[in-house]
Amino acid sequence: MAKVYLSAPYHWYNPCAIAGCDENTHNNQYLDVLEKHLHACGIETKRGYRRPPKDSTTDGDELMIQAVKESDAWGADIHYISHTNAFNGTVRGYRPMIYPGSTRGKKLADCILKYRKQIYDQPIRLSETDEWYELRVPAAASYYEEHVFHDNKADAQWFHDNMEAIAQATAKGMCDYFGIAYVDPNAEPEKPTGEVEYTVKPGDTLWGIAQAYGTTHQELAAYNGIQDPSLIYPGQVIKIPGGDTSAPAQRKYTVKAGDSLWQIAQDQLGDGSRYPEIQKLNGITGSLIRPGDRLVLPEK
Ligand SMILES: [Zn+2]
Repeated sequence: MAKVYLSAPYHWYNPCAIAGCDENTHNNQYLDVLEKHLHACGIETKRGYRRPPKDSTTDGDELMIQAVKESDAWGADIHYISHTNAFNGTVRGYRPMIYPGSTRGKKLADCILKYRKQIYDQPIRLSETDEWYELRVPAAASYYEEHVFHDNKADAQWFHDNMEAIAQATAKGMCDYFGIAYVDPNAEPEKPTGEVEYTVKPGDTLWGIAQAYGTTHQELAAYNGIQDPSLIYPGQVIKIPGGDTSAPAQRKYTVKAGDSLWQIAQDQLGDGSRYPEIQKLNGITGSLIRPGDRLVLPEK
C-alpha cells in the first residue's frame, strides 16, 4: 500500500491574514482534509506533530527532525510538507519546492501541478533547492508546499475556502504518481441502477404499487423482504428494482377482462365518479377499453 507522510509546519507562531488563524493551524486543517481524500484512495498516511500556536513546551527544529525520522522508519513513499508563505502582504502565488535533480520529486511535482493549475489562477513557480532539511534528508520522494502567501488576505482566504479542492487536486496528483485510481470521498454512494423509492400512501396496496411500476407484488415483496404482502403501511418506503422503471412519475393500470372505467376509478381512486379524469388523462372519449390496455391513473 502506498504511504504518504504528512508534515505540517512546526513554527512557534506565524499569524495568518485571516483573524485568529496561523500557519500551523490552517495547514493542519488542510492535512485533515487531504487525509480523508488519500484514505478514500487506499493510501496510508502518517502525520507529524500538530504543534499548537505559541506552544513553548516543544522545539520546532526537534519536531522537524523527529518527523523525518518517523517518515524514514515507517518507509514512506512520499514525504509531503505542507506550508504557506509570507513576504510583505502584497504577493500572491504558489511556490512548491523539490530537491535538486530528484527524478521522483520532479515526477511528483508534475503530477500535483497538473491539477493545482486547474483550480488556482495566481502565479505558480516550482523551484529546486537543497536549503530545507525536510527536502534534503527524507528517504522518500519529498515535496515541499508553499500553497499561498498567508500574509496576503486574498491568498489566505482562497486557501481557507478551497481546502477540499486543493486536497482533491493533491490526492489526484499522488494517485497519478502511484498509478492508482482516484476515489472521491465526497461522492454519493451509488444506488443499484435504476432503483427508485416509493413511499406508501394511505389506501395503497403492494399489488397496486407493483402495477404502477410495471412489476409484480411478488417481486416487490421479495426485493423488500416483505413477508406478508398485505401488510404495508403509510410512510413505509418500498424499493422498486431497476429496469425500465427509472422515472415512474405516474401510476398505471392494466385493464383486465370485465373492467369498466367506472369500476377502475372506484377500485383505484376510491371513487367511481372520478372516471372522467381517467378518460382525460388517457385521451379516451367514449367508454371503450380493452383488456391489456395500459391506463395512466391520476393522483389519488
Ligand atoms: Zn489561515
